[in-house]
Amino acid sequence: MKIAMVGSGYVGLVSGACFADFGHDVVCIDKDSSKIDRLVAGVMPIYEPGLAELVETNVKAGRLSFSTDLAVSIAGAQAIFIAVGTPSRRGDGHADLSYVYAVAQEIADGLTGPAVIVTKSTVPVGTGDEVERIIRERAPGAQFAVVSNPEFLREGAAIGDFKRPDRIVVGAEGEWERGVMSEVYRPLFLNRAPLLFTGRRSSELIKYAANAFLATKITFINEMADLCEKVGADVQDVARGIGLDNRIGSKFLHAGPGYGGSCFPKDTLALLKTAEDYASPVRIIEAVVRVNDSRKRAMGRKVIEAMADAGVGEPRGRRIALLGLTFKPNTDDMRDAPSIAIVRALLDAGAEIVAYDPEGMEAAAPLMPEITMASSAYEAAEGADAVVLVTEWDAFRGIDLNRVAQLVKSRVLVDLRNVYNPEEVRAAGWHYSSIGRQ
Ligand code: NAD
Repeated sequence: MKIAMVGSGYVGLVSGACFADFGHDVVCIDKDSSKIDRLVAGVMPIYEPGLAELVETNVKAGRLSFSTDLAVSIAGAQAIFIAVGTPSRRGDGHADLSYVYAVAQEIADGLTGPAVIVTKSTVPVGTGDEVERIIRERAPGAQFAVVSNPEFLREGAAIGDFKRPDRIVVGAEGEWERGVMSEVYRPLFLNRAPLLFTGRRSSELIKYAANAFLATKITFINEMADLCEKVGADVQDVARGIGLDNRIGSKFLHAGPGYGGSCFPKDTLALLKTAEDYASPVRIIEAVVRVNDSRKRAMGRKVIEAMADAGVGEPRGRRIALLGLTFKPNTDDMRDAPSIAIVRALLDAGAEIVAYDPEGMEAAAPLMPEITMASSAYEAAEGADAVVLVTEWDAFRGIDLNRVAQLVKSRVLVDLRNVYNPEEVRAAGWHYSSIGRQ
């Protein structure tokens, strides 16, 4: 089957490479020519475990190619995926659909044979209707259908998620497009991945409802963590105690600095806007967004309090080492990372910041030009008055805290991911604070 993937970012590139690996003939398109040049040269524009190898294998096998030319690339494709960004629109939080609609216009202008246009980007309810209208208006004779197929992969585990999904959701209104989508995903049926067909609007809403639910779960345990600190309980035990109940489940119950990343912040906001437009408020999500926003900056205050409690004093002029900057491990994605608000709060308090992240420093540097990037966790810790673990990269789990203790000026360790064992760390002479634990 010939598939065109418009947008070769985290979702487009992973999806395109995986479809090629299923045996389809895939072309990944992007308007960013430097991205395409790098891909053609075999250089990955993003960090995602296993992606470089997957791309290389499928390019060599002749199943995967890259192009900036949409019109040429979509010719003969039975399925054309739209996987461009849908960031928050500046000022109001609505999903910015300008990239999606621009692609719809380009597709309309280049469409030759019958094709199913598949929206993989996360888009608000009704976007499929608008994409269909745009194409119908510009290409009145074209034979096409517009389908919604939201993506649920997680950065850092994207290839595994794409190849072994919990479910594939397809919002399609007609038999023909359902058949085409079944063909697209047929190789996955071997893994018994459930293919859930719904109406287009339901499918569009499923993606937002899923992300909002997960964001709620995280925010819930974060507030429980705060309560644990006040009442003398341990949030890890509480999370385990509730998570073992199958109705609740243990995933997404890790207390931390608040959710970030390229999806939850913007998707929860966009869902609020949809709810507002339809006069059907989602008050739980309103609270989740508010609580999470204030939490990220509060983590900066937590560091300042830890320094005060340890007798280090005010942060002004002190050096703080941050371990990890990306919103989660195994990605270089810095979009809406909690580190951004934490850095801001600490800079505002007059601190000097040195940070190290295994993959995220290139993307982080322009977002936080005032901080210094170190070449290792140990270098970041040199002369530090406090060390803050922000992202739980594996490399930091196994760090030699005794060695770090020799490098720092003050042994203040703030663990925003509950990675370390409090007794062990305190026994090594650290003033240790974490989330929701004593
Ligand atoms: P991204 O910013 O990494 O990639 C988008 C790409 O689209 C960019 O390379 C951009 O140059 C390209 N593009 C924009 N306009 C174009 C055009 N007219 N023609 C060709 N290319 C164009 O974004 P992403 O993280 O891959 O997200 C894409 C969509 O998938 C979003 O709606 C997002 O919400 C959703 N999503 C993302 C994730 C994730 O983990 N990143 C997971 C699930 C869903």
